[in-house]
Amino acid sequence: MAAGPVRRVVIVGGGTAGWMAAAVLAHQFEAAACATTLIESVDIGTVGVGEATIPPILQFNRLLGIDEDELVQATGATYKLGIEFRDWGAIGERYFHPFGHFRADLNGIPFHQHWLSAREGALADYSLVTQAAYAGRFIRPVDDPAHVHSRMAYALHFDAVRYARFLSARAIASGVTRIEGRIVDVERDARGYVAAVVTADGQRIEGDLFIDCSGFRGLLIEQSLQTGYADWSHWLPMDRAVAVPSVADAVTLPFTRSTARPAGWQWRIPLQHRVGNGHVYSSRYLSDDEATADLLSAIDGEPTAEPRLLRFTTGMRRRFWNGNVVALGLAAGFLEPLESTSIHLVQRGIVTLMSLFPDGDFDPATTAEYNRLMTREFEAVRDFIILHYHLTRRDDAPLWNHVRTMAIPETLADRIALFAVHGRLMLDPGELFREPSWTAVMLGQGLWPRKPDPVAAQAAPQIAETLTRMRALIGRGVAAMPTHSEFLAQRSRRAAA
Ligand code: FAD
Repeated sequence: MAAGPVRRVVIVGGGTAGWMAAAVLAHQFEAAACATTLIESVDIGTVGVGEATIPPILQFNRLLGIDEDELVQATGATYKLGIEFRDWGAIGERYFHPFGHFRADLNGIPFHQHWLSAREGALADYSLVTQAAYAGRFIRPVDDPAHVHSRMAYALHFDAVRYARFLSARAIASGVTRIEGRIVDVERDARGYVAAVVTADGQRIEGDLFIDCSGFRGLLIEQSLQTGYADWSHWLPMDRAVAVPSVADAVTLPFTRSTARPAGWQWRIPLQHRVGNGHVYSSRYLSDDEATADLLSAIDGEPTAEPRLLRFTTGMRRRFWNGNVVALGLAAGFLEPLESTSIHLVQRGIVTLMSLFPDGDFDPATTAEYNRLMTREFEAVRDFIILHYHLTRRDDAPLWNHVRTMAIPETLADRIALFAVHGRLMLDPGELFREPSWTAVMLGQGLWPRKPDPVAAQAAPQIAETLTRMRALIGRGVAAMPTHSEFLAQRSRRAAA
């Protein structure tokens, strides 16, 4: 006999992943049709870092009907236009990975190909977003394709703890039951599925579908179901981070900064009420004490809390969905925070789960499709992150010598080889990072194609004047924007009104 619908969803963990999942379930289902319970342990706590996002988070918030001004106010958020990479290609160099696109593709040829043929100015001169970032200016995109500001693209820097709190208030108001307690036992049924979890104070919570958001420990997916982990530390050797907040900047810049260090890299994320700083490193090359001392000596402002150490293994769960358990967030895997993709992968997991939402049969075809799609997401992000390390020209430290010369995934090696000839990128339609992202990092780190694209080269003489006009238009577009600080102040007045 066929099983009935899933009527009870149990989310284990109340970090960013758990509350993002709870908010979506509460938005999607009437509690009477499908009840959601979230269990979290204040004693265990959350990872509590993770301040930078990428543009799809805006769609996620819109899907939930969140007012962005209210969210920015509640989470101390700032706007993010991209990431500045310092010392990655070589010490002393910098480049910007902007959101959105460079100027429009012309005659069906990717814009960077025209630029590579014509070499008028710097590629960044054709990115409104990069120019706005460096000028410290910001405006949201306007809904008029003819206006230069329509080409703005952005994400948010926010306090992830406050974001989870913001979502939890909405989820609880929409009917999600929150249980405080430390889970000490996981009960399985005859099929091996999780039937219930039991807390230290004796509460027993049954469910049909369990979402494991318990963080690195993977309480259900790993500790109970022993699903296995694909360890990618041979490609992504970072395994530690030390994080410390410092006093807020007087003028907040709308971008993340990533500075390569001898045994890793350092992030700098400006929020309204503080700056988030962290040093991500490989314990093979640096001790925890050295990493902490390096970070404290390299941050600009006074630290406002004690440094916090985090350990991780880069990789992903061999199956994200196993039986009646779906793992999200750090329980699903972690690729290190270089391109701010973790919260995005949580979002992708939830959206994919909603489009493949099961009934009580948990048909293997549904589960397999979810695992296939999420594996593809993780692998695509993995390749993009490895690119940053592998394309370095640094030879000043053992870490950089290792990543520069290591064997890389074939998918990435093929992509680099193709770009190295004519600057071409043949991306799959669903890939997260598009041509402008790959181009920014490849050229930014010094991978110059050997020859121009033959089609773009033919068009080069006719295009020169257009390029000059584009640069002027971008210059005027940036000058017409408020500063990032002015924009934040305007919007916070609106949110408070
Ligand atoms: P956690 O925050 O660890 O939450 C786990 C939850 O499970 C907690 O509520 C805990 O109480 C609960 N729990 C665990 N065990 C039990 C138990 N036995 N009983 C009851 N409850 C339990 N992401 C980005 O998108 N951008 C970034 O810039 C970024 N930077 C990062 C930097 C670092 C150094 C790290 C480590 C991560 C970063 N991330 C970033 C990732 C981001 O922090 C996480 O993806 C995100 O916060 C989701 O975490 P989580 O909810 O999966 O896990």
